[in-house]
Amino acid sequence: MALVLFGPPGSGKGTQSKLLVKKLGIPQISTGDMLREHVRRGNAVGTKVEAKMKAGILVKDDVVNRLVAERIVQPDCVNGFILDGYPRTQAQAQALCPILAARGIDEVVVHLVVDYNVIIARLSGRRQCPVCGTLYNAASKPPKIPGVCDLDGAQLIVRDDDREEVVRERLAAYEKQTRPLIEFFREKGTQLYEVDASHDGPEMVFRRIEGLIQKQ
Ligand code: ADP
Repeated sequence: MALVLFGPPGSGKGTQSKLLVKKLGIPQISTGDMLREHVRRGNAVGTKVEAKMKAGILVKDDVVNRLVAERIVQPDCVNGFILDGYPRTQAQAQALCPILAARGIDEVVVHLVVDYNVIIARLSGRRQCPVCGTLYNAASKPPKIPGVCDLDGAQLIVRDDDREEVVRERLAAYEKQTRPLIEFFREKGTQLYEVDASHDGPEMVFRRIEGLIQKQ
């Protein structure tokens, strides 16, 4: 099974993916994390995508399509995988679906539905450890010492693309390019679940997702 976690930036796709990895024992494939890793390494892919990511604009479809196509054929994906942040455009869905169909993999889409005001509040309070990548949030997951990573003591930073004007850009990209995919999946007859992820904490949202996918 390919479990597609779908939702706007800040809807908790990354957090839910990590909980699902633990529960299901299948890997998380986050195109955002993969791209950030290329940027960190400063390689050809990284150089190509860095400016777009900083501005909150989607990177080119062929770049992410290639990354995902190469990743899902790895041996750890044989029992399924969680797609976090992919597909994000119609062209990406059109690249992915035939690959899954050819391998006999069913896709299940879980749409995390979150109010945009909640997202802006969440993302603007988000801080990240530049060393280990752990995410904190002033409101929902504060570090023990303000501004300092619990795990390695590094000074926390605001991710470039969590600045408010960039958050608005990311939401606009979602509205225009990604949200219409719900219709695409509906028309295709894909199993599609909507989960309210606005108000409750991650554990509660996770229990809702668990309940839905157990029916699979
Ligand atoms: P979020 O979902 O919170 O926006 P991500 O970490 O998923 O954060 O993505 C960060 C950035 O990486 C995006 O703003 C975009 O530039 C790029 N990106 C990630 N996934 C994709 C994708 N599937 N297609 C195009 N660009 C992507």
